[in-house]
Amino acid sequence: MNGKRAPVVEVFASFQGEGVLVGTPQVFVRFAGCDLDCLYCDTEYAKVIPEYCKVYDTGGDVREMPNPLSIDELMKAINEIAFPDPNVEWVALTGGEPLLYPEFVTPLASRLSEDRFLVYLETAGHLPEALEQVIEHVDLIAGDIKLASTTNTPVDYEDIYDFWSVAAGAEAFVKFVITDAVERGEITALLREERWEIIGPLTAVLQPCTPTATARAPSFELLWSLAHEADHWFDSVRVIPQCHRLLGAK
Ligand code: SF4
Repeated sequence: MNGKRAPVVEVFASFQGEGVLVGTPQVFVRFAGCDLDCLYCDTEYAKVIPEYCKVYDTGGDVREMPNPLSIDELMKAINEIAFPDPNVEWVALTGGEPLLYPEFVTPLASRLSEDRFLVYLETAGHLPEALEQVIEHVDLIAGDIKLASTTNTPVDYEDIYDFWSVAAGAEAFVKFVITDAVERGEITALLREERWEIIGPLTAVLQPCTPTATARAPSFELLWSLAHEADHWFDSVRVIPQCHRLLGAK
């Protein structure tokens, strides 16, 4: 029994709706808590630590587990959901912000690897020291670069650069969420410093935001312009919206 515990909002199966693995069946572990305030946030409920974690099985039943969860409790829930379907290879560690809990996520990811799962880490991409701890056990990193126009939190690009200094050598892709407030030239203004060449070999995903009360979707013209801009800095650029929304899925 591992004594470490962490707060989790929910555990569920769904199709990955974002990024380069879009359409892949995965088990999602959504950690509670986040230290940022993005205008396009679609998981505000995950920023608060709930008394109970909800575990949704694929038949539609829901059960509750008191927070915080131990690794053994979480592994049991993941296996219960994944076991009926042998196609579920990936477990997505998402949030909130999973890297708020590196002491928990590191042994969890190690256990997942031992139990045949591939580990997909979805992170806001601003906690380099935590990433250093967990990266050994992660198979793919989906890391955001937050554009200043899309968040209420001041963006510390030194932390983001340090994050990518660690992540760029691993399997990873960069995700920019695009709202109508993003300015043409904003990606270039950030990446034109020579040091950002480290992320050039990665794929960049531009994700037009799903509208929220505080963020509107970008126009086609803005997306086209930003994709063209990103193409200058990255080897590969894709524009992919949140596809799980089309399915009415989590
Ligand atoms: S990092 Fe994620 S959970 Fe946190 S505010 Fe931004 S979108 Fe919401």
